[in-house]
Amino acid sequence: MTLAHTLGYPRIGANRELKKATEAYWKGELDREGLETVGRELRARHWQAQRDAGLDLVTVGDFAFYDQVLNVSALLGAIPSRFGADSEVAEGDVSLDTYFRLARGRAPSGTPAAACEMTKYFDTNYHYLVPELHEGQRFRLASQRLFDEVAEAQAAGHPVKVALVGPLTWLWLGKTKGADFDRLSLLDEVVTVYGQLLACLAAQGVEWVQLDEPALAQDLPQAWRQAYEAAYNRLGSVPPKLLVASYFGALGDNLQLAVSLPVDGLHIDAVRAPEQLTPVLDNLPAYKVLSVGAIDGRNIWRADLAARQEGLADARKRLGERLWIAPSCSLLHVPVDLEAETELDGELRGWLAFARQKLDETVTLARLLGGRATPDDRARVEAASAALASRAASPRIHKPAVAQRLAAVTAADTERASPYARRAVEQHRRLGLPLLPTTTIGSFPQTAEIRAARRAFKAGELDRETYEARMREEVAQAVARQEALGLDMPVHGEPERNDMVEYFGELLEGFAFTRHGWVQSYGSRCVKPPVIYGDISRPAPMTVRWSEYAQSLTDKPMKGMLTGPVTILQWSFVRDDQPRETTCRQIALALRDEVADLERAGIAAIQIDEPALREGLPLRRGAWAGYLSWAVECFRLSAAVAGDATQIHTHMCYSEFNDIIDSIAALDADVITIETSRSDMQLLDAFQDFAYPNEIGPGVYDIHSPNLPEVAWMVQLMEKAAERIPVERLWINPDCGLKTRTWAEVEPALANMVEAAQQLRRKY
Ligand code: GLN
Ligand code: ZN
Repeated sequence: MTLAHTLGYPRIGANRELKKATEAYWKGELDREGLETVGRELRARHWQAQRDAGLDLVTVGDFAFYDQVLNVSALLGAIPSRFGADSEVAEGDVSLDTYFRLARGRAPSGTPAAACEMTKYFDTNYHYLVPELHEGQRFRLASQRLFDEVAEAQAAGHPVKVALVGPLTWLWLGKTKGADFDRLSLLDEVVTVYGQLLACLAAQGVEWVQLDEPALAQDLPQAWRQAYEAAYNRLGSVPPKLLVASYFGALGDNLQLAVSLPVDGLHIDAVRAPEQLTPVLDNLPAYKVLSVGAIDGRNIWRADLAARQEGLADARKRLGERLWIAPSCSLLHVPVDLEAETELDGELRGWLAFARQKLDETVTLARLLGGRATPDDRARVEAASAALASRAASPRIHKPAVAQRLAAVTAADTERASPYARRAVEQHRRLGLPLLPTTTIGSFPQTAEIRAARRAFKAGELDRETYEARMREEVAQAVARQEALGLDMPVHGEPERNDMVEYFGELLEGFAFTRHGWVQSYGSRCVKPPVIYGDISRPAPMTVRWSEYAQSLTDKPMKGMLTGPVTILQWSFVRDDQPRETTCRQIALALRDEVADLERAGIAAIQIDEPALREGLPLRRGAWAGYLSWAVECFRLSAAVAGDATQIHTHMCYSEFNDIIDSIAALDADVITIETSRSDMQLLDAFQDFAYPNEIGPGVYDIHSPNLPEVAWMVQLMEKAAERIPVERLWINPDCGLKTRTWAEVEPALANMVEAAQQLRRKY
C-alpha cells in the first residue's frame, strides 16, 4: 500500500465555529468549559473527516485556539515575563488565558500586557505569534494540551500522527529581545525539551511525529544548517519516528542536508517544486520514508489525479511502501468544504477542491499508486480529468481579446510621457497645492450604518439605487468634513467598498466569489479571498462615477482610489494554469483603463495602493529580482497611461523598504505614502540614502491606535522628515486608511494634522 496522510487540517470549522466560540469566550459570553467543548468537537469532527476520507493516519497537534507557533511557545514554556506566568510555567501548565494574553494582550482573566508581535508565516497570509527570545532563556515542558489531544484521538480509535512546528523553524521564526545575541545559543535547551516531549509522545504510543521545518525552503546560514544536523542527531535516534516536513518551495541547497538528517522520514513539496522529486529520490537513504506533497495545499484547484499518478509512478517503483502521499503543506491555507458552495455554478465548482475534497484526492492518489484503487477511485480520477479538460477549454477562462492585448504591450506602455521632474512642474501648476500638502490614505470610518446598508443590499432587502444613494450621501459627508478640516487633497472615502480587493474583483471579469470559503488569517480572524479563474477584463468603469461625484462637491483636487495589480493578485486565489505574472499583467491592463477613464473624467490625482507588494517576495533571495521586475512592471503598466499633469500616488503600509528601495523608486509614482510614525521617521533613511527622487508622504500618526496625535508630536516628526527629504517633496498624511476608526477619533486627529501642517508652513 501507499500511506495517505495530511500535514494538517483547517481548525476553524466549516461554519467558523472556532472563531465564534473564541470571540464569545473573550466577550464573557461563553465559559471556559464551553470553549474547550467546541475545541474538542472540532477536533473530533476533523479527525473523523480524515478517517472517513480513508487517510491512514489522523493528524493531532494542528489544532490551536489561536496559532500553532504559539502552541509550541506554550509547550516550551517560552512565556515572556511581563505576563507574570512563571508559576504556571513551573507547574508545567500554561493556562488558556495566559495563552490568549500572549496573543491579544488581554483575556477574561489575568492582567493585560502588551501582546506578542504577529507576522506572516513564510509567504502565506497566515499570521503567527513571534516567539520572543532572550539571552540565556530557559525552557521547560509547560503545557499538557498536546498530550490530552493525543489521548482524545486515541480514545476515538484513531491511528495518530502528531504534527508540530520543529525546533529549528520555531527558533528561526523567533526574534531576539533585549541585547542582540545568537538565537542558536538557545538550541540545545530547546532540543532538550523537544526530546522530553517526544519521549512523552512515545510513551503514549505515538509512532510518528511530523516536525514542520519549512525554514528548509529558505536560504539558511551555514551555522543553521549545522544546527539542523546537531538537533536531529539528538532527536532522531529514539522513538517516536520523525517525519521532517519541508514545504512552500524547493529544498534547493538544503536538499543534501534534508535528505541526510538521521530521521525516519522526509516530506517534500512537489507542487511548488516538482523538479526536486528526482534529485530527492536519487539521494534518499534506503531506510527513509518519503512523503510527497502532491496535492496543492495552498490553492483551491482540483488536482489532475491521472497526471499526478503518472508523475509519481517512478517514485513508487523506486520506493515501494516507503512512498507516502499528502497535500503539499497543511490544508490550513485553503477553505474547508466545497460542498457548502451551493451558489457557485456547477461548472466552476467542478474545477475546485477545498480541504475536505483534497483529503479525498490524497487518498485516491495513494490508492492508485499502491495498486489498491477502488471503482470509486477510478470514477474520481475520470471525473477529475473531465473537469480539467472542461476547464482547459472553457471560453469562460480563455478570452482571446485579453491575450491579444497583452501580447501587444510594449515597453513604452510602462513609461510615463516625461520624467518625474518634468511631470512635477505640470502637476504643481495644475493642482496649486501649498507646501506640505495634507491628504489621507483613502478610507474613512466604515460606520455601523454603512455596514448595515451593505448587508441589506447584499441580502436583497435594499435595492441598488437606494443603496448607492446612501453611499453617495456618505461621500458627500466625507467631502464636507474634509473641506471643513481644510485638507488639501480630499478623497471620496470608500464607503461603497467592503474590501479593497473584493470590491474590484466583483467588478472585473475572471473573478468568482465563494460564500463560505473562509481561511484563517490570524487568531479568530478569517478572510475569504476571491478566486481568479479566468482571463481578466473590465466590462465597465469601476470607480469613475464615485470619484466624479466626489469631485463635483469640491474645488479641491479629488484623489481617485484604486487597488494595485500586485495587491489584487496577492490577496486572491490565483489560477494555476498560467504564470502569476501573466495574471498580474491582465489585472494591470484592466486598471490601466480605469486610470485612463478617471483622467478623462477630470480627476487630477489617482492613488494606486500596493500594500501587498512586499508580501509577494519569494522565500529565496535569489528569486527576488525576478518577482520585483514583473511586479514593478505591472504597477507601471497600470499607471503609465496617465498624462504628465495627472499625479499618480501609491501607498504601502509596512515599514521595511531598505532592501527593495530601488524597486520602490522604479515604480515611479509621483507621490508615495508610507507607514513611518512608529519608526520615528528613521524609515526615511533608506529613501535619503537612495536619493529617492519623487514625493513622499511619511505617515505622521498611527491609525491603529485610538490615541489622539498631538500637533507638536507631528510637527517634530515632520521636522525629522525634512532633515532627510527636501521639504518641497514632502506630504502630510496618516499612516494608513481610516476605515477602522470612528469619526469622533478621525476629526480631531486630522484637525491636529492640518494644524501641524500650518505651523510647519510658517517655518519653512
Ligand atoms: N486606500 C486604502 C484605505 O485607505 C488603503 C488600505 C491599505 O493600505 N491597506 O483603506
Ligand atoms: Zn495602508
